[in-house]
Amino acid sequence: MNKRTFIKYCTSLAGISLVGRNFAGAATTFPVNRYNMKKSGTLKLRYAPYTLQLKHAFTLATSSRTTTPVVLTELEFEGITGYGEASMPPYLGESHESVLKFLAEVDLSRFSDPFLLEDILIYVDNVMPGNYAAKASIDIALHDLIGKITGQPCYRLFGLNPAKTPLTSFTIGLDSPEIIKQKVEEAEPYRILKVKLGRDNDREMIETIRSLTDKPLCVDVNQGWTDRNHSLEMAHWLHEKGVIFLEQPMPRSRKDDIAWLTQNSPLPIIGDEAIQHADDIVSQKDVYSGVNIKLMKCGGMHAARNMIGLARALGLKVMIGCMTETSCAVSAAAQLSPLVDWCDLDGNLLISNDVFDGMKITGGKVTLPDRPGIGVIKLT
Ligand code: MG
Repeated sequence: MNKRTFIKYCTSLAGISLVGRNFAGAATTFPVNRYNMKKSGTLKLRYAPYTLQLKHAFTLATSSRTTTPVVLTELEFEGITGYGEASMPPYLGESHESVLKFLAEVDLSRFSDPFLLEDILIYVDNVMPGNYAAKASIDIALHDLIGKITGQPCYRLFGLNPAKTPLTSFTIGLDSPEIIKQKVEEAEPYRILKVKLGRDNDREMIETIRSLTDKPLCVDVNQGWTDRNHSLEMAHWLHEKGVIFLEQPMPRSRKDDIAWLTQNSPLPIIGDEAIQHADDIVSQKDVYSGVNIKLMKCGGMHAARNMIGLARALGLKVMIGCMTETSCAVSAAAQLSPLVDWCDLDGNLLISNDVFDGMKITGGKVTLPDRPGIGVIKLT
């Protein structure tokens, strides 16, 4: 079957005609779901601030909070709307104010074709430096929009197999033994637990969890340890306790100490706070065993896909994570999860006021909805 016949075959399964462009740029006709897309139109960006309420105070080695600010975006083209989201945990330095200011500067009306994704995202990236969560909110909405126009889930447009999604972990923050017990019970549907360490009761946390479950654990220290010998000693102890990897054990500035730990540790050492963009992967390929990629750090799905490819080429392990987010941004990250070794996509489950329905966890595994785009439905 040649390329043109293949496209006709695939799109005939979906139903209706759409005028689009083939890989060589020549006009071609292929059917898509429910929609005859015009060649051109107007991209309209809308956005609104929203505050996520956390079910439990989220306590890390360096901070504690009960809310997370987000901005919800919508990108409309010819009556079809794609959804996006920016989530702003304090450590990335973005806020409601900064994201709204950034989005007010963006003029997408200059683009008449949402399929010019590369051009659109380069324009958005050049509006202002930084502001990666704000940029992700447009990137996610654009991917959702393109999926909806073509009637295909993003994972299909990326050529990914939804059966290859990994298990996801459920996060247990730093807390008292009583609350930890409650959280372990809440985490019953999950087959891997992620434990936040980095305070003076690390061993007590692990012993408490181990008295309740023998599930595999991953540990995130969020830069909380300062001594490399202590970090190595803990890595060996955690290995014996059934931990499968250790994330950001020391401050990101301690490259030499972390590289030494990675060389000597029985556990893979994953970089999170230290690795936000593709150039960080290149510069720290010998410091870490792997990278935790998040849409809010790197600017969205397009950048994340590129980072995954780069990390793989350099022989690194890859996980995909999230912030506290609604099911919108979490479902966007989930579209890429067939590409990674591990995922940590529970941010939507840590909040009490989600406004989207999206990806689900079934038997501890990410399950991608059979819906176009990022696969979400807005609930309110
Ligand atoms: Mg982390």
